Amino acid sequence: TFISFEGPDGAGKTSALRAITTTLQPLLGDRLTVTREPGGNAISESIRSIILDRANTAMDYRTEALLYAAARRQHLAETILPALEAGQLVLCDRYVDSSVAYQGAGRQIGEAAVAKMNTFATDGLLPELTVYFDVPAEVGLKRIQAHRDPRKVDRLDVEKTAFHDRVRAAYLRLQAAEPNRIKLIDATQPPAQVVASALTLIKQTARA
Ligand code: C5P
Ligand code: MG
Repeated sequence: TFISFEGPDGAGKTSALRAITTTLQPLLGDRLTVTREPGGNAISESIRSIILDRANTAMDYRTEALLYAAARRQHLAETILPALEAGQLVLCDRYVDSSVAYQGAGRQIGEAAVAKMNTFATDGLLPELTVYFDVPAEVGLKRIQAHRDPRKVDRLDVEKTAFHDRVRAAYLRLQAAEPNRIKLIDATQPPAQVVASALTLIKQTARA
């Protein structure tokens, strides 16, 4: 079973995923794979470092989208597909919806174009369930500033609220278009409630 996790910056996706892993690990042991993209293997990590290198301010937005798609392909081939073939539950932090939202809508290179490019990269493989942590842009950005992750605070100067508004709007459009795959969780709720809702969805999907 393949499940992805999505959300704008500051939605609490990373900490929720940590709590979910802590709950599921004792139940599933080696039948659980938790992974994140871009990354998870040597090639994808190299691509990730190019994307995240703060010196690369000259990076063209389509270049960025192509690098994300390339990292995704490698991660799929090396990590996700083998785990699925072994019958594992695969929890993946970000997948194609991130590119549609961040590169397509955030960077404004076009949601349809980015979706198409990712269909090539993934050969059309989508998760059975995508847990989308929904949070308004201002709430998410305030949370990040509170945590003072230096990399992300830096990005704020460039990206600002309008960018994050576009990202969230795109996520909401994706969710409305594919309500069976993409399940929305109100991530402004207390963390324990967010985690409980996510676990319910995961268990339903893994059982089916
Ligand atoms: O998942 P995480 O919150 O660690 O995301 C890292 C950063 O990478 C995010 O802040 C987001 O701005 C960026 N990102 C992106 N395009 C993607 C995936 C992530 O710009 N496709
Ligand atoms: Mg995070």
